[in-house]
Amino acid sequence: VVAGAGIEGARVLGVGVSVPGQVDREGGVSEYAPNWNWREVPLLDLLAEHIAYPLHLDNPLRACAVAELWFGAARGHGDAVVVNLGTGVGAGLVLGGGLHRGVSNSAGEWGHTTLVLDGRLCHCGNHGCVETYVGAPGIMLNLRELSPDSALLHPEDQTATIDALAGGVAAQDPVALKVVRDTARYLGAGISDLVNLLNPELVVLSSWVAATLGEPLLKEVREAVARHALRRPFAATDIVLSPIPTDPVCLGAATFALEGALQSAFKQ
Ligand SMILES: [Zn+2]
Repeated sequence: VVAGAGIEGARVLGVGVSVPGQVDREGGVSEYAPNWNWREVPLLDLLAEHIAYPLHLDNPLRACAVAELWFGAARGHGDAVVVNLGTGVGAGLVLGGGLHRGVSNSAGEWGHTTLVLDGRLCHCGNHGCVETYVGAPGIMLNLRELSPDSALLHPEDQTATIDALAGGVAAQDPVALKVVRDTARYLGAGISDLVNLLNPELVVLSSWVAATLGEPLLKEVREAVARHALRRPFAATDIVLSPIPTDPVCLGAATFALEGALQSAFKQ
């Protein structure tokens, strides 16, 4: 990557790495990544054998949150929730002006809060998690349950299915419109929990599913949150799409390296 970018190796401050799931930042260990079935993978030690730069590990929730804080919609906002909608789902939490990690770097696992009691089985072992209704595989299941033989459904390909849904919405296909509305209803209930709980200034819809479904999803989500959330916190909250035009997880991972370099400069 460094060679391809035409950058002098000596100018690289570090390398940020984002892996899904539970991450031990200090130890550099991917503790549990349910979508990949990784447990206790000493990732930074393995990478350090091949990459001679300072390495910084965290997960996509934190990556998307720092990307929005430094470069996106959350700049200048002290209280924001960055909702990460991809294959996995979660929330990066910016509280009181900084990233909220929790006591063991696990805050924001909103994707594994219960949305439907005794609902769909989740990778994490629980039932009815938010992620099983609004993550890309969950949206595919929403489509399959509505219209099992739909031409929009590409059973082995999440990206192709979400792309097809976005195209279907643009063409006013009734099945696509219904799937996006149903998905937004689930999202609206889950996001209103975040709004009622945290009273943020801003909710940012981030990552590739949000980018692909775009404005039509945003409109439905705003209406759904308005139905569920309490009036006072809802009135104080803007719900927006991420303005970051590139992959926010990559940008956020690069920001980990920048933050790490700044921190070690302060320590010297
Ligand atoms: Zn779960």
